[in-house]
Amino acid sequence: MSGSDTAQHPFGTGEIEVLSPIHGTVLAKVPNERPEAVAAIVRELREQQREWEAIGSAARAGWLRELRDWLLAQQDRIADVLQSESGKPRAEAEIELPFVAEAISYFARHATEFLADERIRPSGLLSAPKRMTRIHRPYPVVGVISPWNFPMLIPGADAVTALLAGAAVLLKPSEVTPLTALELQRGWREIGAPAVFAVVTGDGVTGSAVVENVDYVQFTGSTRTGQAIAHRCVDRMIPYSLELGGKDPAIVLADADLDRAVRGIAWGALLNSGQACVSIERVYVEAPIHDEFVARLVDQVAALRQGDDRVHHTVDLGAMATPAQRAIAQRHIDEALDAGARALTGGDDGYNGAFLAPTVLVDVDDTMSCMREETFGPTIPIVKVADADEAVRRANQSGYGLSASVWTRDRARGERIARALEVGAVNVDDVVANLFEMGLPHGGWKRSGSGARLGGAAGLRKYTRQQAITAPRVRPLPWEPLWYPYGPRKARVVRWLLAVAATVGSASMWRLPARTR
Ligand code: NDP
Repeated sequence: MSGSDTAQHPFGTGEIEVLSPIHGTVLAKVPNERPEAVAAIVRELREQQREWEAIGSAARAGWLRELRDWLLAQQDRIADVLQSESGKPRAEAEIELPFVAEAISYFARHATEFLADERIRPSGLLSAPKRMTRIHRPYPVVGVISPWNFPMLIPGADAVTALLAGAAVLLKPSEVTPLTALELQRGWREIGAPAVFAVVTGDGVTGSAVVENVDYVQFTGSTRTGQAIAHRCVDRMIPYSLELGGKDPAIVLADADLDRAVRGIAWGALLNSGQACVSIERVYVEAPIHDEFVARLVDQVAALRQGDDRVHHTVDLGAMATPAQRAIAQRHIDEALDAGARALTGGDDGYNGAFLAPTVLVDVDDTMSCMREETFGPTIPIVKVADADEAVRRANQSGYGLSASVWTRDRARGERIARALEVGAVNVDDVVANLFEMGLPHGGWKRSGSGARLGGAAGLRKYTRQQAITAPRVRPLPWEPLWYPYGPRKARVVRWLLAVAATVGSASMWRLPARTR
């Protein structure tokens, strides 16, 4: 739903209708904010941010913990909102908020440590008389631009880490799912926190205006939009972090626990109807177990229940988020079938509204769109390979490099294969597992992105600029050896000094503490 052209908007530029993906009914209308409004909000946030930075990490952590408690108290209502605008099954609508709560707990606990000033040891003679400090100061305003597939988890995790780092945050959620993001804003206001967090609703033009005004962009979405944003950020000389699409491979080795591999791959491919950046979108299976794997996977997928369960936890798969997304996935299926693939489940378009049946595809090859392009839908294309080397080679052929899974009982072999894969994360005998650890980075290689979210200290420091500060350790002389005037005698001394500095100067020589808190 890229909306960089307002003309494509059927509702004009004043409001956006938020639709139920399942029923097509209007759930709410939200403002389609124009660039001038976005600029004004950023100006206000910039004003407020100074004080937010000044109160320090411990006080900021206190506010974020209050937000966490407010969110947890509102869990059911927020799951209702999230489910209504995304079409997810209840079980999946309920797992997003606890993830954000955990992110708050972890980063609030470590914020003071991760953002602490660092005392730097002298690397040579010239810096020996200095007290040297590296400090981390936040970008004033971070723009978070988020997609529709995880309306709470993605914007929530990005916003809370940037806030903890001391930045003010302007969040622009997808026009498809803005209501959940507005709950975050409601919570922030209701706890009475400083006015350093705002949500701006709107289309792609609104998103562009965010990029035009903020000091750092944290974007999640398509590679196409991510690239356009990166270009603009380069023009503006501001940093960005992009979490983009993927075409995640699963490699199933002959020694795999097939029960686990089948269940894990079914879930990893079909979670959120396949609308996850880390969805398994290609499966490479070693020849000796290929047929058995396929048969068991077909049984597993055929048994899944699809529908609209509201609060009852009675279905496994929900709807696609938009008709446009359903059409992309259906096209990939149709093109594969036209080119000779077979659908062992789902497949044909007996149009069922927003729902697309999970589709296991065999007899596919690497030229088909279902194997090359990001499908973002409930498809599982399976390829038979001779051995692990062939699987790795074919897995690495993709332009994407987000994550991958390797299914084997041999952990050491799985980890060796992980090191050969050109992706940002590999889960051995599991899927998505890296996302459940706040200390691990989540970021894509190649066309899957630039930078990473979470990942321990880096998850906060990415929203800060490093500043180097030097000051005399003892009262300095009125001159320094490198200063004017120059002359032959002084040149000899300086040459000697620089040679000594270059060869013998070291931190250990001066035995100074590396770090102070
Ligand atoms: P987009 O990349 O277009 O949208 C992501 C976010 O960027 C939304 O908030 C969107 O707003 C906003 N946006 C759109 N245009 C601009 C712009 N020019 N400047 C700034 N922000 C902008 O994703 P789509 O919704 O179009 O989905 C298309 C494809 O992207 C999917 O089929 C899927 O393959 C992939 N995708 C990947 C995701 C991931 O998690 N990696 C998530 C979502 C999609 P708005 O929604 O209002 O247009």
